Amino acid sequence: MKFDLLTLFPGMFSGPFSESMIKNAVEKGLVEISLHNIRDFAFDKHRVTDDYPYGGGAGMVMKVEPLTACLESVKAARPSSKVILTTPGGRPLSQSLVEELAAEDGLIIICGRYEGVDDRVRELYVDLEISIGDFVLTGGEPAAVVLVDAVSRFIPGVLGSSESAQDDSFGNGLLEYPQYTRPPEFRGLTVPPVLLSGNHLEIKRWRRRQSLRRTFFARPELLETEALTEEEKQFIRTLRNGGGIQD
Ligand code: SAM
Repeated sequence: MKFDLLTLFPGMFSGPFSESMIKNAVEKGLVEISLHNIRDFAFDKHRVTDDYPYGGGAGMVMKVEPLTACLESVKAARPSSKVILTTPGGRPLSQSLVEELAAEDGLIIICGRYEGVDDRVRELYVDLEISIGDFVLTGGEPAAVVLVDAVSRFIPGVLGSSESAQDDSFGNGLLEYPQYTRPPEFRGLTVPPVLLSGNHLEIKRWRRRQSLRRTFFARPELLETEALTEEEKQFIRTLRNGGGIQD
């Protein structure tokens, strides 16, 4: 997977991509991340990349010429990559969208700044607008880090062989069950005995119920689209009636 990030602040990425799994993925050649400084494509004397908004109002807008020049140079090298604009007004990022994006050859991600980018960039080049949540960041760089991180987890070989992005929260439509590791007791809190039993069927059943329970309390709307067995539907009814908490 090839990621091309268009930014006015390339230095913001040096930390996030130089540690842990993304660093390893880059070193193994599974993921390629290229940073492109939009200012390098501002050809006027002062290399200006922003200007006042037409119609007035607060803040500045990212100019169309440097950004399109930058995009065109990247797109020429990566004709099959999808162009993504990070914006609070975009499609909300979800695990299913992340999985869709992981199937692409490459992603060209535009990191906005100030009040955003001149809308003609969107009209001319953008394939998909993405929001990472209903809040406003100072710039698209943290959103780009989130995208690179989440999408990379679906690239074969990026996670360890025993791990699977499908087993995580949302992988099967539900939140993940609680996880524990040693010691078996900490400050009076013990690990649920079933996890120490070695009975894999019982462990699987317990985990599924815990997933249902967590999802029911934290994100009940996710259950609406989940295929449930009769036994599971009964379990949800029990939760709804105030039971099943210790199950
Ligand atoms: N004026 C814009 C608005 O109200 O929609 C907000 C601009 S924001 C201060 C600057 C840049 O940060 C945006 O152009 C976008 O690239 C990025 N950004 C801010 N919030 C975001 C979010 N929730 N998801 C993705 N990108 C975001």
